[in-house]
Amino acid sequence: MKYITLLGATGSIGLQTLDVIGQHPEEFRLFAIAFGRNIEAGLDIIHKHEPEMVVVENEKIKQDLSIKLANQSIDILVGKNGMEEVSRHPKVDIVVNAVMGSIGLKATLTAIENQKKVAIANKETLVTAGHLVMEKVKQYNVSLLPVDSEHSAIFQSLNGESVNSIKKIILTASGGSFRDKTREQLEHVTIRDALNHPNWSMGAKITIDSATMMNKGLEVIEAHWLFNMPYDQIDVIQHKESIIHSMVEFEDRSVIAQLGTPDMRVPIQYALTYPSRFPLQQTRSLNLLEIGALHFTEMDKIRFPCLQFAYNAGKIGGTMPTVLNAANEAAVDLFLHEKIRFLDIEKVIEQALERHDTVNNPDLNTIETIDQQTRESIYRSYHY
Ligand code: NDP
Ligand code: MG
Repeated sequence: MKYITLLGATGSIGLQTLDVIGQHPEEFRLFAIAFGRNIEAGLDIIHKHEPEMVVVENEKIKQDLSIKLANQSIDILVGKNGMEEVSRHPKVDIVVNAVMGSIGLKATLTAIENQKKVAIANKETLVTAGHLVMEKVKQYNVSLLPVDSEHSAIFQSLNGESVNSIKKIILTASGGSFRDKTREQLEHVTIRDALNHPNWSMGAKITIDSATMMNKGLEVIEAHWLFNMPYDQIDVIQHKESIIHSMVEFEDRSVIAQLGTPDMRVPIQYALTYPSRFPLQQTRSLNLLEIGALHFTEMDKIRFPCLQFAYNAGKIGGTMPTVLNAANEAAVDLFLHEKIRFLDIEKVIEQALERHDTVNNPDLNTIETIDQQTRESIYRSYHY
């Protein structure tokens, strides 16, 4: 039996992880969950899976939840410290990090330091401090397993291969909600338009990231760290069907790809069961005859400047990706609260990057400070 801590349990990845856990009760048991504020969804999970510990965002949510759980014995913790505590607990075998944003960084580091297997959906952690995470992975010799579908595809394509024989990694991008719109048309798109992703149903922030193409930018940086790949060996192509989840070209020109219907439960489960594969109920088989044709187009980094920002920030390194991530989190938040328009997201990020003087090889404290300063300065300029 493997005991699981699930950070971000009430989110899109969190709920799909619970579905996977629920399909294999003889293999997995939910030990602890962390979520933000969604008490309703949190209570549902607690009643169904009976975790021993729960972490919520703040004291107020803790109080509200405690009242609802008055006659149950369950530990309720708060905030980043709480997430660290449930990630280091001796009973835990696997930590699934599915929180949104760089708030997941410390818990990831703590899980690694305590030699837990880590299934990572929380890409912002790798973007903001990839060097620290990978250093610890090496030092503590732990498995860091990708949940992001593209990275799971690459991981699966690399099974039994030597990383030295890779020519390049090719990430596929669906193109997001606005793939068929011109930049002129993007001037007036609404939040509702942006949240309507053609292929995947995901949390709000990543859906906006997909529309700006920042999601793919973050994934380029994520791939750089997970697979130790130089940026000029990471390509992105648009593939609107989301059937090929990504691929690897080797030195001998062989290309290995991973295919499947778009369903996040597949990469989530693979991260939990690796190196085994378990059955997955409900997930549909890929029917290529039904699909008929797969399409590929070049990524336009002028139409999608966020992708270019990510390559640039990744190549500069140091604290530049920290600023990229923090500025993006703040800008998307402003857009979701109707403080800025869609195309302002990229402007806010570009300005933050231009203003920043990179600090090389930053420690955790420097990263946290710069992350905080970047957000505060953006929120201040929009009086938010
Ligand atoms: P959601 O917005 O759906 O969920 C985010 C989760 O994080 C929720 O459980 C939320 O709690 C929790 N959370 C937010 N803030 C805090 C906080 N301060 N303390 C504790 N918990 C918090 O996001 P997704 O599931 O879509 O994405 C999660 C991560 O996975 C992201 O990094 C994303 O990029 C990545 N990812 C997602 C994919 C997808 O298909 N959704 C695909 C690949 C990667 P609450 O809602 O209760 O406030
Ligand atoms: Mg992805």
